[in-house]
Amino acid sequence: MSENVKVTEIFGEDVFNDTVMQQRLPKKVYKDLKQTILEGKELSLEMADVIAHEMKEWAIEKGATHYTHWFQPLTGVTAEKHDSFITAPLPSGKVLMSFSGKELIKGEPDASSFPSGGLRATFEARGYTAWDCTSPAFVRHDAAGATLCIPTAFCSYTGEALDQKTPLLRSMQAINKQAMRLIRLFGDTTAKRVIPSVGAEQEYFLVREDKFLQRKDLIFTGRTLFGAMPPKGQELDDHYLGTIRQKISAYMKNVNEELWKLGVTAKTQHNEVAPAQHELAPIYAEVNVEVDHNQIVMQTLKRIACQHGMKCLLHEKPFAGVNGSGKHNNWSLTTDTGVNLLDPGNTPHENIQFLLVLSCVLKAVDKHAALLRESAADVGNDHRLGANEAPPAIISVFLGDQLTDVMNQLITTGMADHSIESDKLETGVKSIPEFMRDTTDRNRTSPFAFTGNKFEFRMVGSRDSIAPANIVLNTIVAEAFQEACDILEEAEDFDMAVHDLMKKNFTEHQKIVFNGNGYSDEWVEEAKRRGLPNISCMVEAVEALTSDQTVELFEKFGVFTRAELESRKEIKYEAYAKAINIEARTMIDIASKQIIPAVIKYTKHLADSINAVVAAGVLEVDVQTELLKETSGLLRETRDALKKLKDVAEEAAKLPEGKESAFFYRQQVMPAMENLRKPVDELEMLVDKEMWPMPSYGDLLFEV
Ligand code: ADP
Ligand code: MG
Repeated sequence: MSENVKVTEIFGEDVFNDTVMQQRLPKKVYKDLKQTILEGKELSLEMADVIAHEMKEWAIEKGATHYTHWFQPLTGVTAEKHDSFITAPLPSGKVLMSFSGKELIKGEPDASSFPSGGLRATFEARGYTAWDCTSPAFVRHDAAGATLCIPTAFCSYTGEALDQKTPLLRSMQAINKQAMRLIRLFGDTTAKRVIPSVGAEQEYFLVREDKFLQRKDLIFTGRTLFGAMPPKGQELDDHYLGTIRQKISAYMKNVNEELWKLGVTAKTQHNEVAPAQHELAPIYAEVNVEVDHNQIVMQTLKRIACQHGMKCLLHEKPFAGVNGSGKHNNWSLTTDTGVNLLDPGNTPHENIQFLLVLSCVLKAVDKHAALLRESAADVGNDHRLGANEAPPAIISVFLGDQLTDVMNQLITTGMADHSIESDKLETGVKSIPEFMRDTTDRNRTSPFAFTGNKFEFRMVGSRDSIAPANIVLNTIVAEAFQEACDILEEAEDFDMAVHDLMKKNFTEHQKIVFNGNGYSDEWVEEAKRRGLPNISCMVEAVEALTSDQTVELFEKFGVFTRAELESRKEIKYEAYAKAINIEARTMIDIASKQIIPAVIKYTKHLADSINAVVAAGVLEVDVQTELLKETSGLLRETRDALKKLKDVAEEAAKLPEGKESAFFYRQQVMPAMENLRKPVDELEMLVDKEMWPMPSYGDLLFEV
C-alpha cells in the first residue's frame, strides 16, 4: 500500500456494503433486501439469484476466484470451505463464472467434524450454513488470492444451532421485542427497532517469529508452559500507553489499512500494561456485525504479524507473572432513530426511562450472575479471572458516585430529586484549558462497569468470540424488560407504577452494585456475605448453562433449547479436557526431550569443570560443586514431577469425555503441571543461558 493512504477512499472498499448494493442491485431487489436485513422479511429465491449474480460480478472485479460461507462453529475459530465460481466446461472447453441464489443462501458443509455436543450422531452429518444478510459479505485478499466471504449461521439438519451466530441473532430479536415495548410505554412512537451495539477492545501480544518458533509450548498451546521471570516485568508501568516502537507502528499501520478496507472501524491503538502487549479498539457497531468484525480483527492481527516477522499471541495468558489479555465488551442499546437507552443525560434523576432501564440491567445481572460469568469462561481465561489483574471472578456492577446516589435516593424515599453535579477540573496551571470533569471516576477492577452511556463487560477472554457474552446480556435484559412491561402495561397510574418498580428493582438487586476495589481480599469476603457467586474456574462455571433458571430464560425467548444448552455444556467440558491434555503432553514433550537433556549437559559441563580445576592442582571447587548439587537436586525433582504428570495424564486419557474428565484435568492434571513447572523455572535461573533449549521470557518480551 502507498505511503499516504487516503482512509476515506479505502474504507470499506472490499465490502459488499449498502453503497455497493444500491449501485449494483435493481431498485426493487435492493428495497426487498433492505427489508430482509432490517425487518427479517423473507427473501425469494429469484431475488437471491439477482443478488448472488451481482455479488459475484463485484467480487470478480476485486480479483475473487472463490467464494466461501464463513461461519462460527463452536470450535472458537471461524470455518470456511472454498468453492470457485467456475461452471462445468462448456462444449467449447471454456468455463463460465457463476454463483446462484441457492449457493448464496445455503451451504452444506459436513457437520460431523464440528463439535455438536451430542446434538447429532456422526452418521447424521447434515448441517447447513445459511446466509446472514445482516452482516455484509466481503472480499478477503491473502495468499489464496481473493475470496468472497459470506457471513452465515450454521445449523443442524433439524434446525439446532451449531454456532455462535444463530443464538446471537435470536437474542437480538428477543431484546428488540421487549425494548420496543418499553420505549413505547415512554411515548416513543417513531423508533422501529432497538439494537444492541458493541465495541470490543482487543488485547494481544507480539513476539518475534524466530523466537516463537523455538518454543513448542507457544506453537502447540498458544501460551508458555515454562519460563522464569525476567529481571524486569511490568512493575515500572512504563509500557502502558508508552511510545509505540517503530516496528510495532509499522505493523499497526498495516493492520489498520487492512481492517479499514474490510469496513472495520479500527480506531484506537496503544501499548498495554505488559511488555509486548498492545490493544486495538474499533468504533462500536451493531452486535451481529461486531461479532464478525472482531473475528476479522483477530485474523488480521495474526496474518499481518507474519508479514512483519512476528507472531501475534491472542491467548489470555501467554506469560505467567505479567498481565494477560482480555477483551472489554462495551454494550449499549440504541433505537434505529439514534436514542441510546443507556444515556443518562445530565440529570439522571429526571430521566425516568433511563433509570428504569438501569434498574432492569441490575436485576438481570444480579439474577443471572453465574450465567454471565459462564459466558466468559474459557480454559485460557481461568488464568485471568480472579488472578488480580483482570476482573475478579465475582460478578458485580460499578455504577459510580452519581448513579449510586440516585439509586440510593430511590431506595430510601422512592423519589430521586437531585444528581451529583460535575465540577471544573482544577489543575493549578493557568495555561491548561478548563473543562468539566466526569461525575464519576473510572474503576478498572470492576467486571461490569457503567461507563457513561454503556456497560463495559470486562471478563471476556482475548481469544474468545464475544458472541456468548452478548447472547447472555441481550437475553437477560430482555427478560427484565419483559417483566417490567408486563406490569407497566397494566398499570392504572403509570408514573406511580414506574417509581414503585424502580424502587423494587434497586432495593432487591442493590447487592450487585460495588464501587470499590474488586482486587481486594475484603471484597471476596464482602461478596460472600452478600451471597454473590464466586466461581473460580471454567469447569465449575459451565454448570450454569443448564440450571433451571437458565433453561427457562433461554427457552422463553427462543434463544436456546434445553438440548442446545446441554450440548454446549458438553462441548465446553470436552474443550477444557482437550486443551489441558494438549498442554500436559506438550510439557511432557518439552521436559523429556529438551529440558532434561539440556540440564544433564550442563551438569556434565560442571563436572568436567570440577575435574579440570582439580587436575590443575587448584582445590577451590566449592562454587561448581554447590551448583552441581543444586542443579542435580532440581533435576531429580523435575524427573519425579514429570513422572507424576505422565501418570495422571495417562489416567485422565482413560476417562470418558465429559464432566468427570474435565474435573479430573482441573483437579489432578493442572496441579501436576504446576509441580513440573516449578523446578524447571528454577533450573532456568541456574543453567548456562547458552545451554537452555529455548528463548527466555526476557528474550520474548523485550526483543520484539
Ligand atoms: P477505554 O478507555 O475503555 O479503553 P476505548 O476507547 O479503548 O476505551 O474503547 C471503548 C470502546 O467502547 C470502543 O470500542 C468504543 O467504540 C466503544 N463505545 C463507545 N460508546 C459506545 C456505546 N454507546 N455503545 C457501545 N460501545 C461504545
Ligand atoms: Mg481501551
